Amino acid sequence: MEERRRLVAGGNLLQAHTWKGLLESCGVEVELRGEALLGGIGELPVDLQNVELWVCESQYELAKTQLESLNTDGPQWQCVKCHEMNEDSFELCWHCSAERCVQHN
Ligand SMILES: [Zn+2]
Repeated sequence: MEERRRLVAGGNLLQAHTWKGLLESCGVEVELRGEALLGGIGELPVDLQNVELWVCESQYELAKTQLESLNTDGPQWQCVKCHEMNEDSFELCWHCSAERCVQHN
């Protein structure tokens, strides 16, 4: 069994799953720890949950790099009207106030 190393601690479950999905898409095997503790509780607000991400020692640097790029850039979307890039949390374009567009193909 390869050595594992803790990448992140203290994230909430939603965020941990987002990170896990991103890292796995980059070929990094991720183990979430802490979820088992949540089973019988069910009263803690999501943002207080304490979830840890563990990765293989050999993939730690790759995972760390990916996570940092995620934290700095974040997922973004491009305005269909003015083509400005917007943060994922914005519902309207910061530049022209166009609505975030769902792609109709
Ligand atoms: Zn715009």
